[in-house]
Amino acid sequence: MSTPSRTNLFGMSLAKMEMLMAEFGEKPFRAKQLFQWVYQKEIYDFTRMSSFNKPLRDKLQAGCEIVLPEVVKEQRDPDDGTRKFLVKLHDGNLIEMVLIPVHGRSALCMSSQVGCTIGCKFCATGLLGFKRNLTTGEMLGQLVLARRLAGEIGVANIVLMGMGEPLLNLQNVIHMIETASSELGISISARKFTISTVGLVKQLRELTKYKLKSGMALSLHAPIQQLRERLVPSAKANPLAELIPACRDYIAQAGDRVTLEYIMIAGITDTMECAKALADLTRKLPCKVNLIAYNPIFDDQGTPLAPIKETKPRAGHSRPVSKHGVDFSGNPASGKGGKLKPFTPLDFKAPTMEAIDRFREYLYPRCPAVTFRKAKGLKIAAACGQLVGQSERS
Ligand code: SF4
Repeated sequence: MSTPSRTNLFGMSLAKMEMLMAEFGEKPFRAKQLFQWVYQKEIYDFTRMSSFNKPLRDKLQAGCEIVLPEVVKEQRDPDDGTRKFLVKLHDGNLIEMVLIPVHGRSALCMSSQVGCTIGCKFCATGLLGFKRNLTTGEMLGQLVLARRLAGEIGVANIVLMGMGEPLLNLQNVIHMIETASSELGISISARKFTISTVGLVKQLRELTKYKLKSGMALSLHAPIQQLRERLVPSAKANPLAELIPACRDYIAQAGDRVTLEYIMIAGITDTMECAKALADLTRKLPCKVNLIAYNPIFDDQGTPLAPIKETKPRAGHSRPVSKHGVDFSGNPASGKGGKLKPFTPLDFKAPTMEAIDRFREYLYPRCPAVTFRKAKGLKIAAACGQLVGQSERS
């Protein structure tokens, strides 16, 4: 457990370590050594940092600590080997991370927030509400813990697709990727990371300026603006007409193509109208389409499968808007005379295999690449949209 009076070095950048060493009256190269001890050698005991003299080790011991989040529970899906971990943060908040076996290695699905501000109606995390952003150290901590837990097979890729919207925690996400990819540290290429976003134009344009080479996954979920607004509360403030060019600019600098994550919900997004609109949209940017069947988060009576405290709009604000310009209401586009009602949990059902096949067959010849992601970790509620970070669920 972290001690408030001491500075936690885990998550600190090299520049900040240089400032710390300057305060201690040390030369900048000591900061590089400290960075290597923490991130490359994973030595967290100052007395074992043998390149430092005793007075410096004593100063570090007195004013600093190196504390990672802690895994408090593990579940394993017996069908596919997916492992879900409940991770406790220094303030007692809980998040989840998932290790997914992929071709003999692991992919880490990392969380970026406790809860999520966006509040997509089909997502368990979204229904939790938002508590806070994760620090750089808490995200790096997930990576270090996951590498240990994965053992010899290692972690091949990291997707920021767990709890939270990474672009609403932009600075910490950028610092985390920069720190992890430093050759003095963990030395994982930024290209191994994929930032998965619901699509926030302003933040995406800001991210593009950093020229990170990480991959981009856009949780599109619906290819028609009005339908998207009913599913994704932030879609009205971030229309497809602005979002698609912003994605195109990001991936142009990253030298990659964007993955369009598309959740197939029976009767809502698995229709032929959607298939046609999706095929049209894929002509507007280099992309591949990843179809995902909706993973239930409610039972047949509309009761959440996990204990979820639903976010309530503030009184007197029918369409609350965050400081990020995100519309949280989840209400449909009102438009001129628009009377579409919001979806409720009971509207969401998994698509049939016939609907999936029909959808895929339409897309295959018309889109550059289409994959259908078989849900992994369903038995332990570790699949897309099911993470809640609550220990009550077993
Ligand atoms: S789908 Fe993503 S953005 Fe939407 S509520 Fe869930 S975690 Fe947040």
